[in-house]
Amino acid sequence: MAKVSDGSPAVQLNCRAEFIFDVRAREKTSRPIKVLSECMCDFRRPDWESRWNDWRSGRDPYLNLFLCEEHARSLGLMK
Ligand SMILES: [Zn+2]
Repeated sequence: MAKVSDGSPAVQLNCRAEFIFDVRAREKTSRPIKVLSECMCDFRRPDWESRWNDWRSGRDPYLNLFLCEEHARSLGLMK
């Protein structure tokens, strides 16, 4: 239960990726995919800024964003 991931200790435990957004989700109002495994919200990544820019531009069709619900909402990806 108290298992700590080997990532940065600064990562908040409640900021865990809950949904996957692929590039197609940018254009369509498709439902985000539920994340079933334990992984960190991409918003916490040091390269978040460039990931977000790449995702929005659609430059990389294979880039997926892993976001918690709160950040997905704040970015306008979910209503
Ligand atoms: Zn988050």
